[in-house]
Amino acid sequence: MTIKRQSVSPKSINSVVQTTCPYCGVGCGIDVQPKSGDLGSQKVKVAGTDTHPANFGKLCVKGAATGETVDFEGRMLTPQINGDSVDWETALTTVAETFQKTIEQYGSESVAFYVSGQLLTEDYYVANKLIKGYLGSANIDTNSRLCMASAVVGYKRAFGTDTVPCSYQDLEMADLITLVGSNAAWAHPILYQRIAAAKKARPQLKVVVVDPRRTATCDLADLHLAIKPGMDAALFNGLLAYLSQKGAINQTYLERHTEGAESAIAAAVAKQGDMALLATQCDLSITDLQQWFDWAIETPRMVTLYSQGVNQSTSGVDKSNAIINCHLATGRIGYEGAGPFSITGQPNAMGGREVGGLANQLAAHMDFSQPDNVDRVARFWRAPNMAKKEGLKAVDMFKAVGTGKIKAIWIMNTNPVVSMPDADAVRRALKQCEFVVVSDCMQSTDTTEVADVLLPALTWGETDGSVTNSDRTISMQRRFMSGPENARADWWMICEVAKKMGFTQAFDYAGPVDIFREHARLSAFENDESGWLRDFNLSAFVDITPEQYRDFQPIQWPVTKQTPGGTPRMFADGLFFTSNRKARLIAIDPHPPASQTSEAYPFVFNTGRIRDQWHTMTRTAKTERLMMHKNEPYLTLHPQDALKLGLAPGDLAKASNALGVFVGRVEVSASQRLGEVFAPMHWTAQYASHGRVDALIAANVDPLSGQPESKHATVKVEPYPVDWYGFVLTREPVDMSSLGEEAYWVKIKGQQFLRYEIAGRRALGQVFAWAKSLLKFDDSQDWLEYEDPGKEQYRAASMLNGKLQSVLFIAPQSDMPSREWLEKCFSEQLVEGAMRRSLLAGSASGAKDTGKTICTCFNVGLNTIVEMIETERLTTVAEIGQVLKAGTNCGSCVPELKEILADVLELT
Ligand code: SF4
Repeated sequence: MTIKRQSVSPKSINSVVQTTCPYCGVGCGIDVQPKSGDLGSQKVKVAGTDTHPANFGKLCVKGAATGETVDFEGRMLTPQINGDSVDWETALTTVAETFQKTIEQYGSESVAFYVSGQLLTEDYYVANKLIKGYLGSANIDTNSRLCMASAVVGYKRAFGTDTVPCSYQDLEMADLITLVGSNAAWAHPILYQRIAAAKKARPQLKVVVVDPRRTATCDLADLHLAIKPGMDAALFNGLLAYLSQKGAINQTYLERHTEGAESAIAAAVAKQGDMALLATQCDLSITDLQQWFDWAIETPRMVTLYSQGVNQSTSGVDKSNAIINCHLATGRIGYEGAGPFSITGQPNAMGGREVGGLANQLAAHMDFSQPDNVDRVARFWRAPNMAKKEGLKAVDMFKAVGTGKIKAIWIMNTNPVVSMPDADAVRRALKQCEFVVVSDCMQSTDTTEVADVLLPALTWGETDGSVTNSDRTISMQRRFMSGPENARADWWMICEVAKKMGFTQAFDYAGPVDIFREHARLSAFENDESGWLRDFNLSAFVDITPEQYRDFQPIQWPVTKQTPGGTPRMFADGLFFTSNRKARLIAIDPHPPASQTSEAYPFVFNTGRIRDQWHTMTRTAKTERLMMHKNEPYLTLHPQDALKLGLAPGDLAKASNALGVFVGRVEVSASQRLGEVFAPMHWTAQYASHGRVDALIAANVDPLSGQPESKHATVKVEPYPVDWYGFVLTREPVDMSSLGEEAYWVKIKGQQFLRYEIAGRRALGQVFAWAKSLLKFDDSQDWLEYEDPGKEQYRAASMLNGKLQSVLFIAPQSDMPSREWLEKCFSEQLVEGAMRRSLLAGSASGAKDTGKTICTCFNVGLNTIVEMIETERLTTVAEIGQVLKAGTNCGSCVPELKEILADVLELT
């Protein structure tokens, strides 16, 4: 099918467009250029923007593959109501009228928006303005609640404002970097590489990693503290106590610039002042603790970098403040190479924080705690129906959907059926909700499946707007191609709905620049130019023109007349945004995670990101390159746990608890602590039968931030018994639901084919019949088949005009061929002769299996690397790079190359 595109002005054809990566919170600049000079071809080449202060020309493997994801495959192409295509007028009128009627009948608290850290700031701004200023409800929350809400509250408690004090340059200027709950090597690769480069240039830079797992990030670490999960607040309390006991507190700074130090230090000394007890509590050695504490005392240039491992906890806010306490107590904040630095997961989580995308925020760094703020924002917006109090945070919002309190919800560009805790309950809640609107760029997601109204959204590369990264740098995502003819920008949909509700004047924007200008004006409205009242201040942009917006260059807020070049570092003057301008130290009483292991659920279940995937895979699963590294859901276990459970690498294992079930391939690694397992967070029901990890996460939240404890559940782990294994390679998608609920399957995109790994429990005869019906062989095709029930084997292949169409193998796992040779056959124009004869054997004689892909950029497999290390006697990663190119482009695989090298050298 040819998909019609929107008409596009020729302005950008053939020219390089500077945009920002759509993935993580590092916020790298990307130069995009149409490959063929034809925007319609959708072929673009990408490179890191040399001048962007986040990445200076570098991109990780995900960013480098963005050019391969801009096709229209799977896109939502038209508005739909209950599955029927409708025009925009009908869809938007339905949304506007239903929300309006719901409010009239049940009140403004009966409606909600659930938005996304992937929205652009301009989209976020109008969504927030509509619901808080015009619908009278603050029931707007964002998936950033799941990512960094605890860091927000931690900053606000300490500084009186939600402000990241640091810049990325501080990572290069620091002498001690402690990464807490952050696998930056995989989740924020360019930041990791900046730290790696800094350490190479200055080996005296110490890196400490605090993480229960020995992750790829530990490759860089001088010290890895494999802490017991959930004990970070105790650990930093211990550091504060030690600083106090050793006289390393900066009394002058404390007296001039802070309050609460006495009680915070007293609490830390009382709870964690005994090093031996602390070591036991955290399950660490005293020697390691002492080493880190001593480095902390000796090193004024100290950055603590923290992420989801800290935030996704029922004590995430306390953990943040325990970290910040140590920086305030030593005065290590506000100068080069120092500060508590929370990094965000999403490309525009920070933009959402700026406009009020969280239910407890108002807008422009104002919240509901002060009536003045509500009044100020209401006057600025000329809001007829201003929300007066906080709305429901994400977990409570979906609970309210489940109980029927919320009757109409609009979900924008996010996938809560996958990413929310207790995800099956969220799915049930949305299924029974009276009115669910989902705007998304993709037609089939786990959440679009439960929608009443679908609205097709433009996506990255098709629309313009701003984003803010983890160090407060605002930069632009720019349009470089036309989207599907019938898709629309999010800000446009929201404004059209607002106009249909009668709010024409307030939502009559000509384009994103008008919205950005208003956003800047609100930030400056009744705000002191010196930035004292509110530090989020974009007063330099209150009159921004379309030309200036088009040419906007990355800049760190606040940007005012006093700071026209932006503000790299905050709090240099020791003045904070509390009523007395003093920062607050908070007394911390650490508490353990909500779920504790038991006889029934003896394993701790940790979840997180993998190197080459992003969120729920809607974009990254489109490129086969990114599916090579890890292509199935997996469960990592410690070798002794695996042995005890009778599980070997590659087996299927089930993790389960009262809420849900996860099934994945077993990975065995000593990087995992005993009694703890890890599973990746990315797989959805679109890609795997039992891969949604959040179905197992209880909806336990931090009491202050409302952020769920996504990194800590308790589960039972056991083998997942199956009677047969198989795989399908096919050019066309196939429906796996006919395999039954007990079956395991996962879908993997390859080059010119889809691969399904399958396994199940049905009797073999039934499976063979199922296999035949799946491939729908008929006389019009050229097909081959082999069946041997005695050996439990069925193999088949079909061709059309000599070209391979599909291959299906069912066999005991030990008899399963490598997929590699068969996959290559899909790139052949003609499969004939020896190749055709070898199809049902699964490989040609002499064909080599290069093994699991390690270097995605140059497609270098594990077996090739091992062979080269052995035969060429390679001893360094640099030598591997010279021989195989592996690790020489984005560098994301360097930690794994080091590990492979160490393993092979140890064995030889
Ligand atoms: Fe994109 Fe993050 Fe990779 Fe940068 S580090 S290229 S922002 S995914």
